[in-house]
Amino acid sequence: MTDRNVLESPRLVIELNRVRANYRALRAALPAARIRFAVKASPVPEIIRLLNDEGAEFDVASIGEIELCLVHGVDPAVLCYGNPIKKAADIARAYALGVRRYAFDTEDDLLRIVEHAPGVEVECRFLASTPASITPFGTKFGCTPGEAFRLLVRARDLGLIVAGPYFHVGSQQTDPTAWRIGIEQAAEISKALVDKDIEVRSVNIGGGLPISYATAAPELGEIATVVNTAVAEFLPAGAGVVVEPGRALVGNAGTIHAEVIGIRNAPDGRRWVYLDIGRYNGMAETENEYIAYRFVTERDGDPVDEAVVAGPTCDGDDVLYQRTKVLLPTSLRAGDRIQILDTGAYTASYSSVSFNGFPPLTVHVSGAERE
Ligand SMILES: *Cc1c(COP(=O)(O)O)cnc(C)c1O
Repeated sequence: MTDRNVLESPRLVIELNRVRANYRALRAALPAARIRFAVKASPVPEIIRLLNDEGAEFDVASIGEIELCLVHGVDPAVLCYGNPIKKAADIARAYALGVRRYAFDTEDDLLRIVEHAPGVEVECRFLASTPASITPFGTKFGCTPGEAFRLLVRARDLGLIVAGPYFHVGSQQTDPTAWRIGIEQAAEISKALVDKDIEVRSVNIGGGLPISYATAAPELGEIATVVNTAVAEFLPAGAGVVVEPGRALVGNAGTIHAEVIGIRNAPDGRRWVYLDIGRYNGMAETENEYIAYRFVTERDGDPVDEAVVAGPTCDGDDVLYQRTKVLLPTSLRAGDRIQILDTGAYTASYSSVSFNGFPPLTVHVSGAERE
């Protein structure tokens, strides 16, 4: 790195060795599961190549993500086009590129797959009755369990290969029982499929594995115990498991290095701290103040007081925290550096191209891609 790069602000630094350690920890915790990385969490070439070397599969949501994986040497056989919202032309393009696994949640999309990607393997996403997560999907995805059964039978009848049912408990899910509920529901669908002479190859238990931010999340081991127990208790023998993490593989591997632009005591009587990073150049997950990131400054240890934290653009919504209690040193000054921890997931990939003229967040990687 040149000096200029070292001082560039804001920037995201990804520690590759941490990504590898996260992958291996997950593999050890869920030894029977295939691990499929959700590329949208951090579509960084070095991460794709590292996880490919480690033997991961990839969940891709668009032609752009498919091409990214292929350019970096991923075999299309381990890609799953998991976005249930797909144009016919994109299904055809994915098929031409060699993608043979797809997810769907409507009859409409199923018929598009049958037409443009004949004979491929499919998963049907159902909406599991799980508690809400910190950044929930709401009801945007997933059919009812009964509909998933019907659609998977139809998929078989239309010449597709059935993988099995699929659910996602919502991102940053901090209640381990969510997976138990989802696996039990998936098992009901699977048993009904077996009764129709349909072999269930895999149950996809989605992503959602949480990491600790300002608020601690359950440990991976705690969730793995719930998952492994539910798999043994409910799933028919022979059904494999797929897990689809994004955040849990990359979140704690990233640190954003930013700068304080200025500080002001506003007419609302509050201290506002303006950073050179905001909602539009990387901190999208502060929307609704869902994710409470931790800050580190060079003045930590000095007395602290509450602060509203805002981004650099001329947009009233570009505020990171105004309800969440954020404590920052009272000595903080313009020009101070500030680090935002655990920002490896859903940051750079969410930053806008140039809203208000601010460039997208740049990514630097450190550590070894290969071990
Ligand atoms: C985003 C996403 C994931 C990853 O979710 P995390 O909460 O980051 O683990 C997995 N599967 C699908 C289909 C997704 O859209």
